[in-house]
Amino acid sequence: MDCIFCKIVGGEIPSYKVYEDDNVLAFLDITPVNPGHTLVIPKKHYENLFDLPEEEAKKLIVAIKKIAPAVLAGTGAKGFNLGLNNGGTAGQIVNHIHFHIMPRFENDDYELWHGQAYMDGQAAEVLEKIKNNL
Ligand code: 5GP
Ligand code: ZN
Repeated sequence: MDCIFCKIVGGEIPSYKVYEDDNVLAFLDITPVNPGHTLVIPKKHYENLFDLPEEEAKKLIVAIKKIAPAVLAGTGAKGFNLGLNNGGTAGQIVNHIHFHIMPRFENDDYELWHGQAYMDGQAAEVLEKIKNNL
């Protein structure tokens, strides 16, 4: 399997490692949104959130809770965005699940998504469709 993040886990491709334990690796993103932008991945290859077993998910979130405060303290950022691009439509380029910890600074000029109000009846309609699939 030709996975760039598996190669990083295996040491075939170098990375700036932020954190490592038996299950999780965190390293600096090569093209950071801001300096300190960190990717957190399971060492085992899972493509996306749907493939990720619950135990692995827990370990990832626990690691993120540990790493994010260090990213803030180390960069001086006061907040961060936690990102998961799940699937190509959502911008996932590397098909090995990874969470982005993106430190944010005042006036760093990044914007969040712009939402728009529902049309009449649209919220109830989509809600029903989602709930029917739970
Ligand atoms: P995605 O769009 O899949 O959520 O994000 C993939 C991220 O991986 C991008 O932010 C990109 O900069 C980062 N990336 C891609 N290749 C490498 C690499 O070889 N090393 C590191 N450290 N980051 C990478
Ligand atoms: Zn992989």
